[in-house]
Order: sequence, then C-alpha cells, then structure tokens
Amino acid sequence: MATHTNMTDTFEAMALAAPLKQVLNELNYTTPSPVQAQAIPLLLEGRDLLGCAQTGTGKTASFALPILNELHTDQRRPRAKQCRCLVLAPTRELAGQVAKSFSTYGEKVRFSLTTIWGGVGQRPQVNAMRQGVDVLVATPGRLLDLIDQGYVDLSAVDFFVLDEVDRMLDMGFLRDMKRIVALLPKKRQSLFFSATLAPNIVSLAENILRDPARVTITPEVTTAERIEQRLCFVDRGNKMYLLQELLKKQSHADEAKLTIVFGRTKHGCNKLAKALSEAGFESEAIHGNKSQAQREKALAKFKQGLVPVLVATDVAARGVDVKDIGLVVNFDLPNEPEAYVHRIGRTGRAGADGLAVSFCAEDEIEFLRDIEKLIKSTIPRDTAQEWHSENLQEKHRTGFKPPKVKQGGGGGGRGRGQQGGGNRRSQGGASQSQGSRSSGAARRKSRSGGGASRYSS
Ligand code: AMP
Repeated sequence: MATHTNMTDTFEAMALAAPLKQVLNELNYTTPSPVQAQAIPLLLEGRDLLGCAQTGTGKTASFALPILNELHTDQRRPRAKQCRCLVLAPTRELAGQVAKSFSTYGEKVRFSLTTIWGGVGQRPQVNAMRQGVDVLVATPGRLLDLIDQGYVDLSAVDFFVLDEVDRMLDMGFLRDMKRIVALLPKKRQSLFFSATLAPNIVSLAENILRDPARVTITPEVTTAERIEQRLCFVDRGNKMYLLQELLKKQSHADEAKLTIVFGRTKHGCNKLAKALSEAGFESEAIHGNKSQAQREKALAKFKQGLVPVLVATDVAARGVDVKDIGLVVNFDLPNEPEAYVHRIGRTGRAGADGLAVSFCAEDEIEFLRDIEKLIKSTIPRDTAQEWHSENLQEKHRTGFKPPKVKQGGGGGGRGRGQQGGGNRRSQGGASQSQGSRSSGAARRKSRSGGGASRYSS
C-alpha cells in the first residue's frame, strides 16, 4: 500500500473544474484541510484511497470534490435504476450530511442526487431511482432491500465510497457491505474512510481497494493543551473503586461538571453504567447496539446535566461535542492509540480546562506504550492515588508484555486485532472485573459499600 507524500497547498493549484473552485471561493474555503490536500490530487488521478480520518477533518469535500469534478467533465447520464457514484454511510444522519455536502459543493455542477435510508417509506426512493441518478447516498440495509426488489442496479457504479467503515462494522453491517461490494463492477474507483485502522479494517479494505494510496490524518494533540492528563496503574479489580473516587471528587467540585467514561466493549459499558447508577452515580451508556434514538435521548439528558456520567464506546462518543465535560476517564485504554487523543479531546472544549484520567491494568500495558509513542510524551503518573500498583508500573517500565488473548477465555489478555465483533471480545473490556485480584480482593473486603462489590461479582 502506497503512503502518500505530495500534497497540494491551495484549491487554486488543484485540477478542479471552474464551477467547483467558484463554490469553494464563495464558501470562503481558502486552504484545503490536510485530508483534502492529500486526497484530492490522488483521487483526481483515479487512485483508490484508504483514508484514516474522522468527521470534522473535511473528509467529505475530499471525496465529493473529485467525484463532482468527474461528473462535470464526463456528463454521461445514468441509466434507469443505476447510479454513477454510490456512497455508503452507517447512519441516516451521516448519509444526510454527505448528501447535503454534495449539493453544496456541486451547486454549480449539473448532476442528480438521491438518498436511500430506512425508517421512512420506500416509494419516493423507488421513484427517484426510476430514471437513475448520478450520486446515490445510502445506508446499507434499505439499499439491499431495494436491490432485492429490483429497484436499484449497481452494475454501472464508477465511484464507490465507504464512509465511516469502523462505525459500519460496529453497527453490524459487515455482511451487508460485502453483499453490496459483490454487486459492483470490477472496474471502479473505490474510496474507503475510517476513523481508525484496526487490522480487521485494513484487511477488509485490502479486499475492496486496488493498490490504494493511504492517507492518515493523525489527530492533533495540540487540542489537548488545556487538558491535564494522568495515568493510573491500577489492577483491574480496583478500577471501579478508583472510578468512584474520581466521580466523588468531581461531584464535590465547586462547579459540578459532566464526566464521560470510556469502555472498550458495548457489554462492558452497559455493566459499568448499571453498576455506577447502583452506587449512586447517575449514568447512561451509549454504544453501537443502541438505536440512534436511544443514543440521542441519552446524550440530550447528559447535555442537560440530568445524567452527569456518560459511559461510552469510542464509536458512540464520536461527535459528542458537549461543552461542560470536566473529566474524561479511560476506564479501559483504547487498543488503537489515535482513539486516546480523540477521547481526551472530549474535555477541555471551547477553552475550558479539563482532566483526563486513564487507567492501565496489566493487559493494557502494551496499549499504553502505543499511545505514548503516538503522542510522543509520557502521560504523568498518578502514584498518589490509593489504588496505585507499583508492580504494574514496574512491569511497564521493564518491557513486560502481557500474554495474548485466549479466544473466549476468562480474561487478562489483550484484545488487539479483534475489533468489530463488539461483545465477542469481553476480555480487557469494561465488562471485566476479574483479573489481578490480589490486592483488590483484600481492599474490597474493607470497603464493600456502594456498587463496586456488585459490579465485581
Ligand atoms: P467534514 O469532516 O467533511 O464533516 O467537514 C467538517 C466541516 O468543515 C464542514 O462544516 C465543512 O463545511 C468544513 N470544511 C471542509 N473543508 C473546509 C475547508 N477547506 N475550509 C473551511 N472549512 C471546511
């Protein structure tokens, strides 16, 4: 896979058609964002692309502009039921945003667009496809429904865009995605975007893309300037106590602020939210298994401060832009280092100060190494906290490697490379409270109050 090095610094210097440049001017887009500067020239050359970039980086324009450029240059009209460009997105909201971006950037280009998603009647969608469209933006489930009923034909797709693949996998769309890919013509230009590039995502991309250029937008750590970071070495069995301690301090602070707690698995987040609520810390879980409506409801309650603690997986926390988050807790360290930066960036927003506390148990020592390599610094250790494990700190320092995960086993292992299955990987996730029980068990005895003991059982 090629890694891209050249980039174009201005839109003016890009080989984009005049109507597109005019719109960019009117929108006051003077400088391409990093993903645009790298991806647009490659896409204009006809390359396939594997892009690692989140929403908010300008990635929509990075694919919409080259596609619109081609639609402008080659004005073939689509045939009935067919589309020239197919964009697949995980949710109706994202599909709607992408469609809106195409309309905005393509305001001066002659092209047609329609959207297909579930939860609404299919009749208007079927009608829109009768004459064929240039750009079809769809979510996987309803698209397959309409294909199966013979209303959509993907055999003439020139451009195929998969947006937010990590989220699609998290939402269980792998099979649907594969079915859709199998219906596309072999000769096409394919673009694949994901906020993270876990090994399962890269291997999926390899099956879909042809000699792709790779563009990675490493999250800017500078956003974290106002965020105080702390790292706690803590045995897994003690994590819940430490969390409760932090939440107690947070709720007693002068200005009570919101807290977001990150877990690695959906199941783990559910369990953790339940245990916290039982211990008197009102909390809600959001993750990919919850419907969009449930997530929005939980988020609204959180924003209003009705529920001060939100327990979330990375994917569900994407796009959580809440101003008053004073504390981010990495209950589980992420197995992809970029996620660390995204997570701690949930606090310290809009110029506010924030605190990000990360827990590292034995099975996460390797994740910590990856994170500190990425951010090129050592997260300050909190050795004064009651549950500090000198033993773990020493293991980290001396290069200890945790044992590999046993599939379906009882825990303590890592979990790297097993993403996408959600609950499959309960090891190392927030669901777990077993693990290094030695000092934790003794302490639990002396402090059996609250919800921690229930959580640990
Ligand atoms: P996206 O990551 O595609 O969702 O874009 C994030 C936001 O950035 C959207 O509101 C875009 O309108 C805006 N945007 C995208 N590219 C640029 C640019 N080059 N200059 C200024 N704003 C941009």
